[in-house]
Amino acid sequence: MNSRPEALGAAQILDRLDELARSAETGGPAEAEAIPSIFMDNAARPASGGLEFECVDPSADRPVARLSRGQPEDVESAVRSARSARRGEWASLAPQKRGELLFSLASALEASTELLAALETLDVGKPLKDSRGDVAGAAATLRYNAGAADKLQGATVPLGSGFVDFTELEPLGVTAHITPWNFPLGMAVRSVAPALAAGCTAVVKPAEQTSLTTLAFAAMCAEAGFPPGTVNVVTGFGEEAGAALAESRAVDGVTFTGSVETGRLVGAAAGGALKPVVLELGGKNPMIVFEDADIGRAVDAAIEGAFENCGQVCSSVSRLLLDRRIKDAFLAEFVGRARALRAAPGGQDADMGPLVSSEQHAKVLAHIESALEDGASLLTGGGRPKGLERGYFVEPTVFDNVGVGSKIAREETFGPVVSAFPFESESEAIEIANALPYGLAAGVFTSDIDRAMRLARSLDAGTVWINGWFIGGVQAPTGGVKDSGYGRERGMAGLQNYLRIKNIGLRVAEAG
Ligand code: ADP
Repeated sequence: MNSRPEALGAAQILDRLDELARSAETGGPAEAEAIPSIFMDNAARPASGGLEFECVDPSADRPVARLSRGQPEDVESAVRSARSARRGEWASLAPQKRGELLFSLASALEASTELLAALETLDVGKPLKDSRGDVAGAAATLRYNAGAADKLQGATVPLGSGFVDFTELEPLGVTAHITPWNFPLGMAVRSVAPALAAGCTAVVKPAEQTSLTTLAFAAMCAEAGFPPGTVNVVTGFGEEAGAALAESRAVDGVTFTGSVETGRLVGAAAGGALKPVVLELGGKNPMIVFEDADIGRAVDAAIEGAFENCGQVCSSVSRLLLDRRIKDAFLAEFVGRARALRAAPGGQDADMGPLVSSEQHAKVLAHIESALEDGASLLTGGGRPKGLERGYFVEPTVFDNVGVGSKIAREETFGPVVSAFPFESESEAIEIANALPYGLAAGVFTSDIDRAMRLARSLDAGTVWINGWFIGGVQAPTGGVKDSGYGRERGMAGLQNYLRIKNIGLRVAEAG
């Protein structure tokens, strides 16, 4: 079917996505059909010029749909639609009403868990149970921000008896959200929910590898009663749609999650337009395990931290810093557990799915190859799991004897690959941990609370976890230091990104 798709309303687009999700249960659609995916004014349209790109199932290495390849003109139209919504019905809604809309959106997402999870698994390849968990997380994020919508208070400012001075927190305006492919729904909702709670409108550019749940989310916003133009989506490539959105002067703020290299471009573009920007970038996150740690607990956390989402998490464990006295015992247990993890297509709900794309697959294999060339010892993994000849699968991979200067030790891999490094002392552990330009997350495993606190304060990271990994949720702010970016998302800090302070001063005349 090569005809250009027509514009579809929100309910129709959800039907099309539902058909696609159902076809996945029986091995995917016979043919990759076109789905219009530029969502604005509460309807999905084809891209200008009718350009398209393929949406690929990473578990099977085959296209399942053709989506609209948004052009700068499409970005302009979506931003225009978001601008007029900023001044229209949406702007006149009381904050409490915005909260109510967000609460009902959360329930709508939950009611569509199976659809959203099936689409996420089709797009990202992750096990269905993980995709269901991501939907639950998105609903929790919506509820957190829904509850805050009518609690965004300003302050009174004491200027003395002749004046009244106070601040109001205004919505920032039209907000741009450029999201990555590892948690497509979760990342879109993580920033769009606080933007909406604050009264902003949004234009989202999902990663080209994974657009389906973002499109479904926008259609669900329309169905839940958000006025036209409040939530818009421009699907397409980063260098086209993403770049146009980042540099648009008609946008009031940009939130980006992705790689350091792209973050620099987005930060520069937004800076050029004098817009505030939030950048959550990569990491090469150290987990530091001391000899007095509960080793079983540390291994559990390392397995989850390194291999969750096939290692495609900004805050994954990628460096295991191990006290030399427990290194061998730790690695024996860790490697045994890593070997036992089962990979399979997402629909089969194994421990791990494939990587998201053929490019990511090639990149991770190249990192593994470079580690071997640099003389690292491969303890397990290193290639494609047996019996999985199609799809972008990589085994859980563990290296030891890694040179601190090598690529695998220094660069983000974003795959199920982890390297071990021994240390002799607390100060050496801190030195190794802080030696890289990244600073997203770090973890400390010890039974000595004083040591845990010393490290928490010494580590260059936006988040430090003690005796656990991936601690936190929608309430806890997250973000990086150094090359891992700036600004914080989630929690009340995440809401501040979408508010601006207006100071209002009044002179009180003397009586008579
Ligand atoms: P990766 O390299 O793993 O694909 P990126 O950081 O490049 O990760 O992608 C994250 C998001 O940034 C995606 O939505 C992508 O389309 C977008 N993107 C890529 N390049 C640019 C760019 N030059 N300007 C704006 N957005 C971009």
